[in-house]
Amino acid sequence: MAQEEAARSGAGTKLVIRNIGVLLSGDLQRPIVDADTVIAKDGRITAVGREKDLDAEGATRVIDANGATLVPGLIDSHVHPVAGDWTPRQNQIGWIDSCLHGGVTTMISAGEVHMPGRPKDVLGVKAMAITAQRAFAALRPSGVKVLAGAPVIEQGMVEEDFRSLAEAGVRLLGEVGLGSVKDGPTARQMVAWARKHGMQSTIHTGGPSIPGSSLIDKDVVLAADADVIGHINGGHTALPDAQIRALCEVSPRALEIVHNGNERAALFTLRTAKELGQLHRVILGTDAPAGSGVQPLGILRVIAALSSVGEIPAELAFCFATGNTARMRDLDCGLIEVGRAADFVLMDAAQHSAGKTLLESVRLGDLPGIGMVVIDGEVRSERSRNTPPATRLPKILK
Ligand SMILES: [Zn+2]
Repeated sequence: MAQEEAARSGAGTKLVIRNIGVLLSGDLQRPIVDADTVIAKDGRITAVGREKDLDAEGATRVIDANGATLVPGLIDSHVHPVAGDWTPRQNQIGWIDSCLHGGVTTMISAGEVHMPGRPKDVLGVKAMAITAQRAFAALRPSGVKVLAGAPVIEQGMVEEDFRSLAEAGVRLLGEVGLGSVKDGPTARQMVAWARKHGMQSTIHTGGPSIPGSSLIDKDVVLAADADVIGHINGGHTALPDAQIRALCEVSPRALEIVHNGNERAALFTLRTAKELGQLHRVILGTDAPAGSGVQPLGILRVIAALSSVGEIPAELAFCFATGNTARMRDLDCGLIEVGRAADFVLMDAAQHSAGKTLLESVRLGDLPGIGMVVIDGEVRSERSRNTPPATRLPKILK
């Protein structure tokens, strides 16, 4: 299990990736960029264009993409980490490394709820959130950026609790509804305090996930007004279609579709968002580790499902897990733009896919083959041990 200090990641490097076949930007408005080369210095994108027009001098690392497709590193908007690369939920070690091999470079905690003996008193909730934030800021399992420290709100919290959490560096709220706050007015007050102090929030949507959790219906979701409508397709038990539709129509917040949810409700959400011209709000997560386990290829599977069965061009479906999430959650990655984090996945159509190109293969429902994953300008994995083998693999030239 490779681990490293998060600080200094990418420092002193100049990465050149050339001979890119197709470059996906992560931006719904302009999903395919006319470019074959990307350059990054010190872990940040500095140039995107044609190789002949760019300055590759002084590269510390040169990669020949060999005609493969470059995609921004995938963002999993909904994970439940606990401690490093171990999850007690399924007693599994190395789940984050497995997800790196599925193209995920950033994960966002929706609460460290699987901590054995998770404290429910306010001081304990705060202490655990600060500990998780500190631990995952200091240690990136296999280089994956895990944004953690997401307290689950409990009855009795006051504004001072949110102020002090924010001051300590906590930037997220875990899923509202997994703790003792399950009513709209209390949730709304606490979410507002969190927002006032610079913390993003998410809410559990749908029926209980596991024994001990509860139903959160559309009225509570709308009242709470969290930044992300967490697993709008249920985790697993989804709300009735009319309630999902109301959330899409009435709330302006992110519509998060997860792997560990109801697939029919996921498609219903996608179609409703499309009909309403709200595809920019669609973001993806796995909701793993969970009762359904860990899905190393979960984000790719949702992309392929939404593109194929949901009839969305593949280049747009990739935006859901990259640029959309980055914008809805104010992240510095997820888009191929100068100044953004140099987090990339090089992928191609899987060998023997009926689709001739990567985009065609995903549109047909096949998973891509991943050839390389880069985080902050550093190669973190080469040919994926988890995806089907890619037709064309990138090569490290230097
Ligand atoms: Zn949930």
